[in-house]
Amino acid sequence: MDGIVERVTAVHQRIASAAARVGRDPAQITLVAVTKTWPPETVLAAYAAGLRHFGENRAEELAEKRPYLESHLDTKSAKSVTWHLIGTLQSRKTPLAATHADVFHALDRLKIAHRLARDLAENGRATNPDFTLPIFLEVNVSGESSKSGFDCTRWEEDGGQTGVLRAAAAEVISLPGLMVAGLMTMAPWDAPPEEIRAIFRRTRQLAARLQSDLTLPNPLQLSMGMTDDFEIAIEEGATHVRVGRAIFGERP
Ligand SMILES: *Cc1c(COP(=O)(O)O)cnc(C)c1O
Repeated sequence: MDGIVERVTAVHQRIASAAARVGRDPAQITLVAVTKTWPPETVLAAYAAGLRHFGENRAEELAEKRPYLESHLDTKSAKSVTWHLIGTLQSRKTPLAATHADVFHALDRLKIAHRLARDLAENGRATNPDFTLPIFLEVNVSGESSKSGFDCTRWEEDGGQTGVLRAAAAEVISLPGLMVAGLMTMAPWDAPPEEIRAIFRRTRQLAARLQSDLTLPNPLQLSMGMTDDFEIAIEEGATHVRVGRAIFGERP
């Protein structure tokens, strides 16, 4: 992985510049390095470059890379790493997610939340009083049919859409071992910047609405922004950016 240290530095600088443009503290923004399709050794190189948050979009890949990294680090170093599952989860994969994910970014239906709660009880993680799995509800604000997530394409006009999302958030909160961390969204990859900005802005406003409608113990966070749009996402309030290619180059 030649040049990874330089690329990580460059991404951190771009995050800091975007945050500065809107008067935000860059320390409030988590860089999730998306290692999907890269071999486990790449994650080790990324760790050596100082990265501590890793994102995988498939539960099987997470289940392969996390133990690999842990077997190459001492316990304290391994504990400094947070593993984010960022992709839609199929219901038969929830046991893998419940075992290996520290944060789940792509909850698109309640069935998955119920299964995760069950699996966390079964694998024993939920018995740790300090443990909760933060869950981002994925919202489809753009209306792109290829995007998964709760349908929030017309949430400003359609009280039914916000109602479904609010009920889903309330249900997740009620499940043992789970908490609602915030909302996750993806912008269309080929849309003009102003359209992308509008999608991120509307997601932030949706989170604010949810925050005021529900009694939540924590401020809702926003997982939005990837290689091509993370600066816009930060200007619009992202707390977690999920960046792959800007750090690792084109995927193999
Ligand atoms: C692959 C992926 C990313 C990272 O994409 P890049 O364009 O490589 O930064 C972010 N989020 C999700 C959900 C992904 O699947």
